[in-house]
Formats: sequence, structure tokens, C-alpha cells
Amino acid sequence: MNSPDIIIVGAGITGCAAAFELSKSNLKIEVIEKYKPASMASGWTLAGVRQSGRHSAEIPLAKYSVQEWPNLVEILGSDTGYTQMGNLRLARNDEEVIIIKNLVRNQKKAGLDIKYLSENKDIQEIAPALSKKIIAASFCSTDGHAEPIKTVQAYKSAAERNGVIFSSNEEVLEVNVKSNRVRSVRTSKRNVETQTCILANGIHCNALLKNLGMRIPLDVPIVTVIQTEKTAEILKPVIGVANANLAMRQELNGCFRITSGAQKWNGKLEEKDRMPYAATSLEKIHFTIERAIEVIPNLSQCSIKSFWGGLLDLTPDALPVIDQIKEYEGLIVASGFSGHGFGIAPAIGGILADLTMKAPARLPIDPFSLYRFKKNNNLKEEENEPTLHG
Ligand SMILES: Cc1cc2nc3c(=O)[nH]c(=O)nc-3n(C[C@H](O)[C@H](O)[C@H](O)COP(=O)(O)OP(=O)(O)OC[C@H]3O[C@@H](n4cnc5c(N)ncnc54)[C@H](O)[C@@H]3O)c2cc1C
Repeated sequence: MNSPDIIIVGAGITGCAAAFELSKSNLKIEVIEKYKPASMASGWTLAGVRQSGRHSAEIPLAKYSVQEWPNLVEILGSDTGYTQMGNLRLARNDEEVIIIKNLVRNQKKAGLDIKYLSENKDIQEIAPALSKKIIAASFCSTDGHAEPIKTVQAYKSAAERNGVIFSSNEEVLEVNVKSNRVRSVRTSKRNVETQTCILANGIHCNALLKNLGMRIPLDVPIVTVIQTEKTAEILKPVIGVANANLAMRQELNGCFRITSGAQKWNGKLEEKDRMPYAATSLEKIHFTIERAIEVIPNLSQCSIKSFWGGLLDLTPDALPVIDQIKEYEGLIVASGFSGHGFGIAPAIGGILADLTMKAPARLPIDPFSLYRFKKNNNLKEEENEPTLHG
């Protein structure tokens, strides 16, 4: 391939959705991935596709995406495992009832069709396997879930059919700029000239922003994920809880995917079988299983198939950064999804294509500006100022 017009760093759902949207243009696009597609958050994820429980700034993106999800099978030409069976967010005690009531009120104000269920029997009608101890819940019937690996593969295959090149097992080490614009990237294998670089590399975005004197303030907590062996279908909606220390869904193949809340992580990202691996602990697994069985008692009979740790790119306000960097023409960042970037990928892919093509973003993105963080969080404007333009 001659020099690509656009390089996308990272073949998670963000990079692959952007690649697909951009593949509708005549531009030459290459996606460079350190491991293989969906090897980090987009593979570790629960893969809930929800509008409910989101910050009002994300609701337009979530609504747009929920319109797109049912059509993706046809648009992309392969299955995504998407199913739209709703999202129940549970209150397990009086304190959580208040949280759920507030959530429903605020989300209705933000234009979301969401219900407050105050009786266990109404909740059990939607999910009979739930414990009788659940005292209230919110329910958004248009939420759902999908299969993450299938979805990323579907985006990738569709982009490839339109001519996008995917290079795996290659790490982008540096984005080179000159006269305030992107000129090339240096990878573990070569130098590639390009005019535009989209950083869609999740928790590692700061490694590439650093030499440009920029930084997104990110915390990287861990989420413990447990997958059970297949069991009879007992749950259709995605389950969340008011204090967010548990979520789960039953995959279409019958396995349960159960996640903890975000937990402090001081570990080191390792590699196992040439894939990134974040170790979780017995304590975290134990805590998560206990919470899950409280909510669905029958889970106690399930066998464990697998477990893993998934890392989040958490910003201080838990909103992503989706921005064209003002200081460097051709540098676009999409990171900091803070644990909820899977469901909104159709919108994000479209917005990244808009920014790349210098078109107005199809949805409001001001709340996702890199520049919203305090000055002292942005090295570009503080300590590194002298080196930036030199
Ligand atoms: C346990 C868990 C549960 C979640 N649950 C949900 C949910 O229910 N609903 C929801 O909407 N979201 C959820 N999320 C969040 C969602 O999965 C992520 O926001 C989304 O997958 C992020 O996708 P991404 O493509 O931006 O990042 P990633 O999937 O992390 O992709 C980044 C890619 O970049 C590659 N990379 C990194 N550095 C380089 C480099 N220098 N060169 C080349 N490649 C590089 C990585 O290998 C990786 O493949 C969850 C996340 C986790 C971890």
C-alpha cells in the first residue's frame, strides 16, 4: 500500500467503527494494532448497549447508536449478536431506591423512555430469575447487548471489503509532527507517512500523546469479569445495580458474563499467549460472585468457564475525549470511554469520520473536548509549553 491518508491506531471497536465509516470515502486507510482486533477493552467488555444510566451529554450518542445497532448486521454484512431486550437497574436496599428514583427522573428529563418499577412482581415479570429481595428497578426497554468479538470482526470485515488495510502485531511507537501537523508514525516495524492519525488506542493513548506534550487525565481501574459455562436461558435484559458494583447479561450462547464495578488496580499489564493480560484477585472474584448470587440465586449452580480483568480508560468526569487536537492538524483522539464506549461505537465511528473529513460532527461533541480538563491536567498548556512548537 502507498502511504495511507489515514492511520488509525488500535483495532478495538472505536478504531474498527471509525475505519468502516471512513472506508465509505476514497481515502487510503490503515489500522495498526499492537496485538489483534478486540484484544483489550473491546474484548474484555460486558458489551451492554445501553442509553440508560448515561450522562446526559452521552444520551444523543447512545440514542443514535441504538437506532443503528439493529441495522448493523445488514450494513456490515455479518452478525453482531445484538439483541434488544432492555436494561434493568436494580435497587437492593432503601438507599439504592433513592438512587434509582433520581436516575429515572433525570433520564426522563434528558428525553429517555425509561420506567420506574416499584414492585418486585413487575421486575420479575421482565426477569423471573431475579431474587425476591430486589425492591425496585429502572427499566429501559430499548437497551440491549451484543457479542463484542463478533461486532468488532463485523466492522473490520466490512472495512476490509471497502479496502481498509489492517496490520496486527505491530505497535505504533510515536506520532511524528512537523510545523504543527501530523507527518508520519513510527511503528515497531517501520515508518509510515500519513497526514492524519486517529488515536483509538484506549488506555495507552497517553503513551503516544506524551511526546507531543499532551495528556488525557486517565485513571486505570480494573473490572473483574467472570464467564460461566452455558446454562438454560433464564435472563434476557442486561442487569445493572444502583451503586454499579455489579452488572451481568446472559450471552446468546447461554453463558453468563458477570462484571464487578471498577476496582482499584495497581498491577502491571502483562502478556499471556501474546495477548494483554490484567490479573484480578480471588478477593475481587469472590466479591463479584457473591453480589451476583444475591441478585440471581440460581447462578450458584453454574460452573465457571473463565475469568479475567478488564481495564478502563477512566477520565475525571467519566466522559470520553473525542477531539481534533488544535495544536496538530490531522491528530484526532478518541479515548477515555470510562467503561461505556462499546454501546456508542456506531455514533463514535461516525463522528470520527466527520472530524477526519473536516465536516461538522453529526452529534454534539463539545462535552468531549480534550480542553475541558483543568489547565494543570494538560501538559500541553503547562510544563511542556516550550518544547511543543520547537
Ligand atoms: C469489563 C468491562 C466491561 C465493560 N462494559 C461495557 C458495557 O457494558 N457497555 C459499554 O458500552 N461499554 C462497556 N465497557 C467499555 C467498552 O468496552 C470500551 O469503552 C470500548 O470497548 C473501548 O473500545 P476502544 O476501541 O476505544 O478501546 P480498546 O478496545 O481498548 O482498543 C484499543 C486497541 O488499541 C491497541 N493499542 C494500544 N496501544 C497501541 C499502540 N501503541 N499501537 C497499536 N495498537 C495499540 C490495543 O491493543 C487495543 O486493541 C466495558 C469495559 C470493560 C473493560
